[in-house]
Amino acid sequence: MSLIFVALGANLPSRFGAPHETLAAAKDAMAGHGIHIKKSSETFLTAPVPLSDQPWYHNAVVHVETELSPFRLLEVLQDIENDFGRVRTVRNAPRILDLDLIAYNDVILDKPALPELQSLPELIVPHPRMHERAFVLLPMQEIIKDWTHPVLNRSLSDLVALLPSGQAVQRLEEAEEVA
Ligand code: AMP
Repeated sequence: MSLIFVALGANLPSRFGAPHETLAAAKDAMAGHGIHIKKSSETFLTAPVPLSDQPWYHNAVVHVETELSPFRLLEVLQDIENDFGRVRTVRNAPRILDLDLIAYNDVILDKPALPELQSLPELIVPHPRMHERAFVLLPMQEIIKDWTHPVLNRSLSDLVALLPSGQAVQRLEEAEEVA
């Protein structure tokens, strides 16, 4: 069974509407590009990390099946981000759509050392900050029971238990009930 995970995030409106509508449209776009969604988490409403006064994010994680290589998959995800109107400014700036490759089976990739590989997009797998992010780990926990980080050699539930405290994360449905 393939264990490929992509994280989606948005905190600005797009031509598809509000962030949760952008996430739904992004999943459709992925399916149209050979990235088949096997399972999707609920959408979570999460405070920006690092904390700032920009709008809260809508986040989800999807378990996908694809024939694309990790590099090609990242390129396709970036093409979708660009098509949705993502403009890259500074790091951690608010965004119309963010698509991160979280993990690709047991593949471990870091910056290519060989000069002939330098033309490939920068890609680190598993995503280098996934284990610090409640907005990735909690949605991921909804869609996969047993998963072990191939570099840290820790289970997903261990990583959740080790999360730095203070990250505000709510299921969108629950947040709407309170509102
Ligand atoms: P961001 O603006 O936060 O989406 O970061 C995108 C940058 O991170 C791009 O230059 C990517 O090539 C690079 N990157 C490295 N590893 C990953 C990954 N696993 N998923 C998404 N982007 C990655």
